[in-house]
Amino acid sequence: MENRFGFIDENLKRITFNINEAVAKYRNPDEKVSLMAVTKTVEPEYINYAVSKGVTLLGENRVQEYQSKKDYYDKSAEVHFIGHLQTNKVKYIIDSVKLIQSVDSIKLALEIDRLSEKSSKITDILCEVNIGGEESKGGIDRNEAKELIYQMSELKNIRVCGLMTIPPPYESEKFLYEMKMLYDDISAENINNVKMNILSMGMSNDYETAIKYGSTLVRIGTGLFGNRIYK
Ligand SMILES: *Cc1c(COP(=O)(O)O)cnc(C)c1O
Repeated sequence: MENRFGFIDENLKRITFNINEAVAKYRNPDEKVSLMAVTKTVEPEYINYAVSKGVTLLGENRVQEYQSKKDYYDKSAEVHFIGHLQTNKVKYIIDSVKLIQSVDSIKLALEIDRLSEKSSKITDILCEVNIGGEESKGGIDRNEAKELIYQMSELKNIRVCGLMTIPPPYESEKFLYEMKMLYDDISAENINNVKMNILSMGMSNDYETAIKYGSTLVRIGTGLFGNRIYK
């Protein structure tokens, strides 16, 4: 479908415009909100097209899909892993992703730390919070997030850089606000070896509201590439 490129181009312009507007409306003018293109089910040619049009950050959900696509990616964009991650699959992504956003247990953090040490590096991570307390979703319970971050801060080869969440689609605004409160609360602890500077929240349907509540990184899939077609 040739005009899918034009479609992506227009979407990207609209989203960038909306992000800038939301920042102007709700935030300090010098605050930057990063745009991540979420790539699940999207073929590399369209991902690379988005990169050629200015996207600098990609989000990957599935280890296997990422494995099969990553060699075709334009290497100028950074990649974050954002999907549910099993401990035994960390080894497949540890060397190619810049940051892992979906860390929600000490077991997973320990494995990332162990493999990072083996590769002589420090891996940046976010703590994923299940702000809506939904059974079906990943993420640590909000009441356990601070304790988990204290535990993770002891690990020498990972660095916690902030929080990530996928709020329930209903009442998204209330949960985005509560995430901001939690983020500020944990930031105020000034935990050693933790640098809280990323609040990853906001997707196609709620990114402007997420920016209102302090998001520093919005993750957009369908709004940019169109509806996902699962094969
Ligand atoms: C799919 C996905 C997104 C993007 O969702 P859209 O509604 O398509 O924008 C963002 N974050 C995560 C973790 C996702 O899995």
